[in-house]
Amino acid sequence: MFDTLSDRLTTVLKNLRGKGRLSDADIDATCREIRIALLEADVALPVVRQFIAQVKERAKGAEVSEALNPAQQVVKIVNEELIGILGGETRRLNLAKTAPTVIMLAGLQGAGKTTLAGKLAKFLAGQGHTPLLVACDLQRPNAVNQLQVVGERAGVPVYAPEPGNGVGDPVDVARRAIEEARRAQHDMVLVDTAGRLGVDEELMRQAADIRDAVQPDEILFVVDAMIGQDAVTTAEAFRDGVGFTGVVLTKLDGDARGGAALSVRHVTGQPILFASSGEKLEDFDVFHPDRMASRILG
Ligand code: GDP
Repeated sequence: MFDTLSDRLTTVLKNLRGKGRLSDADIDATCREIRIALLEADVALPVVRQFIAQVKERAKGAEVSEALNPAQQVVKIVNEELIGILGGETRRLNLAKTAPTVIMLAGLQGAGKTTLAGKLAKFLAGQGHTPLLVACDLQRPNAVNQLQVVGERAGVPVYAPEPGNGVGDPVDVARRAIEEARRAQHDMVLVDTAGRLGVDEELMRQAADIRDAVQPDEILFVVDAMIGQDAVTTAEAFRDGVGFTGVVLTKLDGDARGGAALSVRHVTGQPILFASSGEKLEDFDVFHPDRMASRILG
């Protein structure tokens, strides 16, 4: 992930080294190169435009600095702007005033929701929380079973509909799970919902019904970073259909170009909270915009 973008940006910025004062033409040329690198990384056009406009304006207006040469100043500006489009500060989970905190996971099928549910549960348990996983993906055959396997590996209990009762109603399961969490004193409830291969109305309605029934403190939109610009379209559909308060990027270990990661925050206005980078439960971390920016700038 980001390898090509990282290489391109490093080369562009290296070319500035050794220059004394940068002319406006130098800055324009550099910004043109950065623009191409971002577009090739599949970053959404409005994001690229704003990014370039900011870098240009700040670079041209940069004070002559004692501490940094002109090239270093541009690198600093690009770094700060990258942190900005990635969300600025690290955003922590919103916790409910009265337990349990309810976190709902939404996204397309295959985005990595169920895997993520296990990772997040393990992470939270490691922080001293007592999460309960809830299987509300009753569409996909085997999804309940998959969550149970993931829960077992994470050492976190799973609330699931009784077997043999037909498909069951996910809204009802979610509601009963919250009661169970209160009874058994779980301070967090992670609700795994059904995804479809594409965005569809029934999926949105069901997710909205679950949302209304359990009033989550966070709705996390889980999105596969490998799908590039499609991540942005999917995010917009979920924002309009269900709404969400944060994003989780998955499959950052893949060889995606990075466009989804760089676009999703700006386009949806919601922060990226976590990143998943592999199939194992440990391949998971809090998303830190500054660390990601440093990774991109190499
Ligand atoms: P769901 O349909 O959204 O619940 O998605 P799953 O959790 O079942 O994940 C779909 C596939 O992606 C599975 O094969 C997972 O092992 C895989 N997967 C999930 N997260 C990651 C990740 O961060 N990196 C990689 N490489 N694979 C992942």
